[in-house]
Amino acid sequence: MTHHPTPNGYLPQDYHVHTEASCDCQATMAEMCRSAVQLGIAEIAFTDHFDPKPEDLCYGYYRPERYFAALEAARREFAPQGLTIRAGVELGEYHLFHAHMAPVLAAWPYDFVLGSLHWVGDQIVFDEGYFRAHGPHDSFARYFTELERLARFGGFDVLSHPDVVKRVGYGAVGGFDIRQWEDLVRPVWRACIENGIGIEINTSSLRGGVGEVHPGPESLRWYREMGGEILTIGSDSHRPGHVGAGLDVALDVARTAGFTRLASFEGRRIARWIPI
Ligand SMILES: [Zn+2]
Ligand SMILES: [Zn+2]
Repeated sequence: MTHHPTPNGYLPQDYHVHTEASCDCQATMAEMCRSAVQLGIAEIAFTDHFDPKPEDLCYGYYRPERYFAALEAARREFAPQGLTIRAGVELGEYHLFHAHMAPVLAAWPYDFVLGSLHWVGDQIVFDEGYFRAHGPHDSFARYFTELERLARFGGFDVLSHPDVVKRVGYGAVGGFDIRQWEDLVRPVWRACIENGIGIEINTSSLRGGVGEVHPGPESLRWYREMGGEILTIGSDSHRPGHVGAGLDVALDVARTAGFTRLASFEGRRIARWIPI
């Protein structure tokens, strides 16, 4: 097993989980819920991909009516087992596609909305071609500059995997040190804080080469120092075996950076704070 619960065995939330409502995931919502219940996770948010960018793999795939039907069924089955299920979504490039997304957000009862940046211009940052095209400096600089635009635009609740560019970039350019990008990361945090947007600690990177969470401990400390308070944690799991994975690490990183609580969302507002 890759799961190591907190010392007291309690995992308060996994706020970044995919299901078959995402084009890149085959697991049913019920399968993901079963994993969460087994691990004793109190709260789970299903954040399936909504990507209106025509070049994106998930383009045209997202169907809110299908998602909410699965969600209602999962709540009926798993709420009696103690699992709180939040209605979430992961929006790709909201600052560019808000005209398409905002009506969907208004029409359906979401609890929690992640804002993500997967593309910079016409290139996806999960492809080494992006790093070859722009080189070791500009590939990261362009990402953080675009991320600031997304955070500045706002309209979502929590900024997802804020340095996801390191996931592939780490291997492509032979290393990653966030301190090199401090002057570009701090404006992202400033935009989030000024807009009332939180950030997540995303543990998917622990399952890859880079070996630290998104964001890493150093930049999370900057966020905290600057007054950042809103924080969630998520595994970004796309299969049942990854639900909850690395969240013990995320909690340790959060505490080390000075956080004492996580945000729990309902109806797109912070419903309560969870002590960690
Ligand atoms: Zn993502
Ligand atoms: Zn995701």
